[in-house]
Amino acid sequence: MSKGLLLIVSGPSGVGKGTVIAALREKLRARLGREIYLSVSLTTRDPRPGEVDGVHYSFVTRETFAKMVAADGFAEYEEFAGNFYGTPRAPVLAHAAAGDIVVFDIEVKGAARMRKSFPEAVSVFITPPSPEELRRRLLGRGTDTPASVEKRLAISVEECKRASEFTHVLCNDTVDDASERLYAIVTEALAAEAEDETAGAEAPAEETAPEETACPAEGGRPSAPSEK
Ligand code: 5GP
Repeated sequence: MSKGLLLIVSGPSGVGKGTVIAALREKLRARLGREIYLSVSLTTRDPRPGEVDGVHYSFVTRETFAKMVAADGFAEYEEFAGNFYGTPRAPVLAHAAAGDIVVFDIEVKGAARMRKSFPEAVSVFITPPSPEELRRRLLGRGTDTPASVEKRLAISVEECKRASEFTHVLCNDTVDDASERLYAIVTEALAAEAEDETAGAEAPAEETAPEETACPAEGGRPSAPSEK
């Protein structure tokens, strides 16, 4: 059975990961008739206007999130800008086993954990054209308070330092160009996988499991949230 393709898409908040992934989805559907499964994370953050529970995220209490951590239900989870975000393990394994293209929109520390658990995954770091443009995009989407925007910009400086840990780095200058390059990355990986299967061989890992670079300033692994 096909092992499926695991695609980790990371990069600073506001860089446009979701928009690029949506454009990738359209291109794969139109050109190859293939669907992607976009992993739905659990988060303790409040929904933004227009976000649908179970579609954009599963919005949960800190207590529910902590129970899921205790039950080892996450493939990875992290704290980001004061909220918890986690990738539920069961759907990842089910969709990977079904040979689907499984896509994760996650921040950098969670991406490192995923690469360690799934060394065969293809990982892509999306950069903004400039820090000024990232600020403009974060402010432009109008969903975050000025304090949250500043927090996310500060985190982005550390995140961009880790771009070289990823299999590919691409700049989201325009959504069309960035998604076209992401489409090329995906089709190349699918072709490589098909070749491996034809040869009857196990697909070799494209990269060794990355060394996890503990950033002292980040304080290490977040503990499970506790209900205050
Ligand atoms: P936002 O609050 O803007 O939706 O997301 C904040 C950050 O959390 C984004 O960089 C997003 O990619 C990341 N994120 C979303 N879901 C997950 C997850 O399940 N795990 C991790 N590690 N990061 C996530």
